[in-house]
Amino acid sequence: MKKNGYTVLSVGDELTLGITTDTNSGYICRQLGEIGGTVKRILTVPDRTEDIVEALRLAARDSAFVVMSGGLGPTEDDRTRYALAEFRGQPLRENAALVAEIQKRFDAMNRPMSESNKIQALLPEQAQALPNSCGTAPGICLEHEGTRVFALPGVPREMKAMLEQSVLPALPRADNFLIMKQLHLVGVGESVIGEAIKPLMKQDANPTVGTTVKDSIITVRLVARGSDKDETQALCDAGEKEVRAALGENIFGQDDDTLPGVVVRLLAEKNATIALAESCTGGMIASLLVNIPGASNVLKNGIVSYANEAKTELLGVPAEVIEEHGAVSKEVAILMARNARERARADYSLAVTGIAGPGGGTKDKPVGTVWLAMATPFGVSYLRRNFLADRQGNRVLSANTGLTLLWRELAGLAPPPETQHER
Ligand code: AMP
Ligand code: MG
Repeated sequence: MKKNGYTVLSVGDELTLGITTDTNSGYICRQLGEIGGTVKRILTVPDRTEDIVEALRLAARDSAFVVMSGGLGPTEDDRTRYALAEFRGQPLRENAALVAEIQKRFDAMNRPMSESNKIQALLPEQAQALPNSCGTAPGICLEHEGTRVFALPGVPREMKAMLEQSVLPALPRADNFLIMKQLHLVGVGESVIGEAIKPLMKQDANPTVGTTVKDSIITVRLVARGSDKDETQALCDAGEKEVRAALGENIFGQDDDTLPGVVVRLLAEKNATIALAESCTGGMIASLLVNIPGASNVLKNGIVSYANEAKTELLGVPAEVIEEHGAVSKEVAILMARNARERARADYSLAVTGIAGPGGGTKDKPVGTVWLAMATPFGVSYLRRNFLADRQGNRVLSANTGLTLLWRELAGLAPPPETQHER
């Protein structure tokens, strides 16, 4: 069998114990994707010689390249160099040039070099060292039965520098382009999206189409591959057109766009301002908007009217209305929105009142019950949602639903399902 493609391998107890998130693999995969490489698999193993050797053997069955990170330090728990020697079937030898280089680095820092640092000068016979411009541990490169292995340090900064300086230049450029497009949707479930674009999601389609979901925002990712750049772009564009035809009404942005970013942009385009009245979201919507450069042109104020008295004192919601309908009610949400807009002399306002949980739920208003209202120059739109997440999740979903209400209004789209309106 002809070997091709890549195995990416991460080594470290901290990874398999779940203490550190493996960010190296993702980074390496993205870089390999950019030169047209195909990653067959990502493996993660603990700092154990046998496990590393086994992973290398598995990778070497079919991969032309292995790019691995971690386990090259000078301490006893770092096992990668021993595993490489065993995998290659060659003993480790101290490399005199490397000892001198490490010595030079310590001299420059005016610190004595310890005996254990010499471990980093141990290489399997016939392996090459990869220079490390920002740390002491050199990387190791070796070849075994048609598989070339690059072992890089685990420290992300060092790994990135070495990948860029010594590994990527040595890898073949597949005349193979990868063009990616991401479309972001809100207000529709992942299963509905899956149904709508099912014909596009075949395993060997080009572009491949996949979805990911985070905090009710769904991203449809199209990845086109091909040997001609324009043709690959055209394939990606054609796929995008199909997704837009099926789901266009729910797509708020693409690639680096975010929902708050799109809302701030649309408000700015209309020269319009907004005020916020937040209860269960506790300022989250304000924070999401303020994250966006240019928010100062559109955001007038954000009131966190958390306690009932605050809804009365800061927003003029009559105590009797709260008494009669409860703080989490259509009536209170509408008044919060109307009054926030009026008091701030803003064009739009958004109000949220709900029960984030875990306590505070009742039979009629269980945890996750949220009323949202948006006041505009044309009246108030409002809706109720029953979220089923935990406290933090309910708050994030509330914030995103509020932003969705606003986005659809600003974009001239129909309101979300079950939205009611009064003048
Ligand atoms: P090592 O070279 O294996 O001793 O790794 C040094 C440090 O780099 C570790 O303590 C981690 O904090 C970090 N590190 C190692 N591998 C990874 C990885 N795959 N992703 C993110 N950080 C890592
Ligand atoms: Mg380690």
